[in-house]
Amino acid sequence: MPELPEVETIVREIAPVLQGSRIARAELRKTDVLREVTKPRLLKTLRGNAIEQVYRRAKHVVFRLSSAHRMIIQPRMTGSVIVYDRALTRHELKYAVLICTLEDGRQFVYRDVRRLGTVWLLDEAGWTAYTGRIGPEPLEETFTPFVFADRLRGTRTAVKKAIMDQRRLAGVGNIYANEALFDARLHPAKSTHKLSLEQFARLHAAIIDVLQRALASSGTTLRDYRTGTGEEGRFQFELRVYGRVGEKCVNCGRKLVMTHEIDKRQTTFCRRCQK
Ligand SMILES: [Zn+2]
Repeated sequence: MPELPEVETIVREIAPVLQGSRIARAELRKTDVLREVTKPRLLKTLRGNAIEQVYRRAKHVVFRLSSAHRMIIQPRMTGSVIVYDRALTRHELKYAVLICTLEDGRQFVYRDVRRLGTVWLLDEAGWTAYTGRIGPEPLEETFTPFVFADRLRGTRTAVKKAIMDQRRLAGVGNIYANEALFDARLHPAKSTHKLSLEQFARLHAAIIDVLQRALASSGTTLRDYRTGTGEEGRFQFELRVYGRVGEKCVNCGRKLVMTHEIDKRQTTFCRRCQK
């Protein structure tokens, strides 16, 4: 988290207001988020550069700059990207990691409460190589049940781990993996290679459905995630299993159980509905 719906929400809000803007100056207040770039090189590259395009790939916000560099922000857990057309409050400044001031005075800010997220700078070739290693985008039309089955075929790992593996499928993390497996009525620990074609098709549909519903609700805010305008998401009110251990299954009424045994993360499921 943020997963695909949260990052897509951010991007849909900030892309129209940032694309075509030029960065007058940039300030980096913490350096521990940087990957593949030093502070001086990042600031030098940003200064005077224009933002040509803002888009999402997997769980990353990608800024394509006029110099052809890609600045990539992965908000991971506690980060968000927000555009302000006013001065930041002291509280907003407190967690601001990167502040880019645009030529018209607006600011876009990467804030990260615990700084678990990352900021990268890649050139064109570096980006092409990186994105080529990530799996298909589940909300694209080309993502058919056959593409999905093909990406997952041949792995014996638990199906939950397989769908969260970014090399096999882009954008799905712990929350939506839990939800999709519940909707598809599949046990999260089931070996992926044992899934029937019908089960692949069910899971494929469930993944797309939960991502689209979460996107329609501007994502899930459990703690720190905010949209590109600083609002909270609303999908936390629609979660069926994630975070609901001990509560009743919405299908059958049995108490939901939780395990850390599949991937050390919280997996919540219904023993009756997900065999
Ligand atoms: Zn149930």
